[in-house]
Amino acid sequence: MRNPIDAVVAEVDRAADEIVRLTQDLVRIPTVNPPGEAYDACAAFIGADLERRGFEVEYVRADGRPEHTLRHPRVNVIGTRRGGRGGPTVHLNGHVDVVPPGDGWTVDPFAGVVRDGRIYGRGVCDMKAGLAAAIFAAEAIARARVTLPGVLEISGTVDEESGGFAGVAHLAAIGRISRTRTDFVIIPEPLNVDRICIGHRGVYWFELTTHGRTAHGSMPFLGVSAIDAMNEVLTAIRRELQPSLAARTTAMPVVPDGARHSTINVNAIDGGQPVDGIQTPCVADRCRAIFDRRFLIEEGFEAARDEIQSLVARVLGNGRAASVTDYDIRDLMIVEPVQTPAGSPLVAALDRAVDRVLASPARLVASPGTYDHKHVARIAGVPHCVAYGPGELELAHQPDESVRIDDLVAATKVIALATLDLMGLGR
Ligand SMILES: [Zn+2]
Repeated sequence: MRNPIDAVVAEVDRAADEIVRLTQDLVRIPTVNPPGEAYDACAAFIGADLERRGFEVEYVRADGRPEHTLRHPRVNVIGTRRGGRGGPTVHLNGHVDVVPPGDGWTVDPFAGVVRDGRIYGRGVCDMKAGLAAAIFAAEAIARARVTLPGVLEISGTVDEESGGFAGVAHLAAIGRISRTRTDFVIIPEPLNVDRICIGHRGVYWFELTTHGRTAHGSMPFLGVSAIDAMNEVLTAIRRELQPSLAARTTAMPVVPDGARHSTINVNAIDGGQPVDGIQTPCVADRCRAIFDRRFLIEEGFEAARDEIQSLVARVLGNGRAASVTDYDIRDLMIVEPVQTPAGSPLVAALDRAVDRVLASPARLVASPGTYDHKHVARIAGVPHCVAYGPGELELAHQPDESVRIDDLVAATKVIALATLDLMGLGR
């Protein structure tokens, strides 16, 4: 019998054009989030494709989630291929949603243009190429006539870009991905073809509102400006907090290097009168800003939140004679850091596969942003989860987003070989 590794690799090479075509087809479905366009069409497309390839297909709607509406239904799709008995369940998960295209494109972001060895389009890197790689990893195994001793699942899920609550979190919450049925999860996010991603930092999004007292704008000294109060907080964050955060370094291999530290970003600010409205002379009695604080596994969430609260209390708090400013802080989103356990057989299998396909060792990294790993680890309780897929991380969410076809083909081989390895075949 032929070595299954050589047979599967040969099938991926033979399928290269088909892998490109599937990626183009996926890019042409404009699954823009927000608001969550064309999710049902995309799920139906993937479901039909998986069915043709011999998968049992189920559609899981995020019933009960407020974002699952008639206009923008949240539909996830899962394909299952059962092999023999006794082997593990390997689940390949990709999100189908893409961020809005934004400005600056030189090609149609939803045309799936192929040029100079690359496929272009919004979401091609993050992460429709990854989904195509997962599907063709399974297809190449089938075409090589290798019967897996376990279960191979492929899911296309929604809303990763907005938190994944109706997507992977929902599948985990209903037990469709769970510690008892799922052994290994690979998420083909674009972390570069030679890197295995073992987790991410924590996220704390919060909203700070400052309340002032309005007065006639010609006599601002009679009021208290909520915008001035916010400005004082922003200044303290820039002068005091940011240098302190930049001096903290995690032992996790977060890339790029700048993201190995704690960070804070102001996502949004809004104060006083609507800028586009008719203006009247008034001191702003309200200002609101939304912050994105990324914390390290070594810091922990409680300490990160306490630090913010005490900074704001010190800047705006009692004891400041001139200020009558009041404020509130509201938590918007908290994501704990996650990290694949050291010695995970999943990391080892991918490591061997990368080495074999690229003839150079894989690098372990952690993601600067968060992705659906958190739901797999924390809700489903599956520890053996990583991100591995084609695409250069830096191109995600950019104009003229693209993926190298060579990387797409190589990642397909790596995912296929890692799957064989986890099933105990062809090591
Ligand atoms: Zn992504």
